[in-house]
Amino acid sequence: MFKKILIANRGEIALRVIRAAREMGIVSVAVHSTADSDAMHVRMADESVCIGPPSSQQSYLSIPSIIAACEITGAEAIHPGYGFLSENAGFVQIIEDHGLTFIGPTAAHIRIMGDKITAKDTMKELGVPCVPGSDGGVPTVEDAKRIGEEIGYPVIIKATAGGGGKGMKVAQTAADMERAFMTARAEGKSNFGNDEVYIEKYLTTPRHIEIQVFGDGKGRAVHLGERDCSLQRRHQKVFEEAPGPSITESERARIGKVCADAMANINYIGAGTIEFLYENGEFYFIEMNTRLQVEHPVTEGIFGVDLVREQIRVASGMDMSFTQENLKINGHAIEVRINAEKLPNFSPCPGKITQYHAPGGLGVRMDSALYDGYSIPPYYDSLIGKLIVHGRDRPEALARLKRALGELIVDGVDTTIPLFHALLEEKDVLTGDYNIHWLEHWLETNLGDA
Ligand code: ADP
Repeated sequence: MFKKILIANRGEIALRVIRAAREMGIVSVAVHSTADSDAMHVRMADESVCIGPPSSQQSYLSIPSIIAACEITGAEAIHPGYGFLSENAGFVQIIEDHGLTFIGPTAAHIRIMGDKITAKDTMKELGVPCVPGSDGGVPTVEDAKRIGEEIGYPVIIKATAGGGGKGMKVAQTAADMERAFMTARAEGKSNFGNDEVYIEKYLTTPRHIEIQVFGDGKGRAVHLGERDCSLQRRHQKVFEEAPGPSITESERARIGKVCADAMANINYIGAGTIEFLYENGEFYFIEMNTRLQVEHPVTEGIFGVDLVREQIRVASGMDMSFTQENLKINGHAIEVRINAEKLPNFSPCPGKITQYHAPGGLGVRMDSALYDGYSIPPYYDSLIGKLIVHGRDRPEALARLKRALGELIVDGVDTTIPLFHALLEEKDVLTGDYNIHWLEHWLETNLGDA
């Protein structure tokens, strides 16, 4: 087992990893930009190294600075968290070239899944059901129009390098195709430096269901059920739950086994998420994330396992501490993402926290790097906390969420907390009757958010 690890991230996810490391008796090293000198992850880690100015490019994304921080502190392994360098295959290669260990999958697996076309081809070969669409990349508008006719409108044009909801455009009819195609390409080029796009059938009322997988890199892999992350704004998740209210035990076992077998087949190591759209009882693969997800705590809640601990274990060469047989679902968990954003437009709202109080009590978990007097810097994303609740069943989890939200105080900046108070009054949310478009419609009707 490692003696010291470095966390190449900030905010709540850096704390999450530090906590797991501490329970395992591993010394933690935080890295930070000059804007984060007073951040909680720096205070909580055993050691810290300043790696650059506020801009992410020059700090959290600066590979030479992170490698240097490992060399200075003697850290043997790097946990990337999510975002930043977590899905950067080149980073993994450099880590290995320096005799260090990446706590995550291999560079090869990151590369395969990072390109959505290659990912789809690979999954298809592994027997995972996919959304019908183009066979690989679509080079010209003429090709796009032909494929649109073949698979039938509406269709979605996606940048193969896309992520975070960027580089995706829907064409409702043939008349929309040229504009959608050009915009998706342009977004792919400007955000990810790659203008290749592909086309999928646009499913009109699906749910977003994702399967948590975990492999030991030695041919063994398990699944930890699904999360329903259908409540999204602009393809970004805001509310996640496990188990999915619409998924039956036999569906879970079926799709879970397909995913676990696929991962065993490719010798996958560490945590991963296989994302599907789910409509009329069918699962359609859309992409795989080769890292820990923001919403992993709901899975931890219902299975009672520490996924970060498992990531560190398998990265150090140990076995997973669970088998498929002893992974049993217990109750229901829900996570809501607390962002420093101003409603109704969700514009980022950095600033000083004048008062912070985290909720507590049975079944309540608050993952946040906030503290009284903390100043949220304007340079990074707006997620400032995740409130996760666990109950014996869904109604209990919902009641607990409402109670915990009532205790949560974040003063000084605008946050998404009022959104969740309002959503918990909605019948569809209470019954779990929603799909990936539900929230956008609700926001339009109730907040005038376009
Ligand atoms: P990203 O990598 O940007 O997160 P994904 O491929 O995971 O992109 O898709 C994000 C979201 O976009 C999905 O959860 C879903 O809401 C929507 N989406 C993606 N593909 C389709 C599709 N074929 N039909 C309908 N909605 C889709």
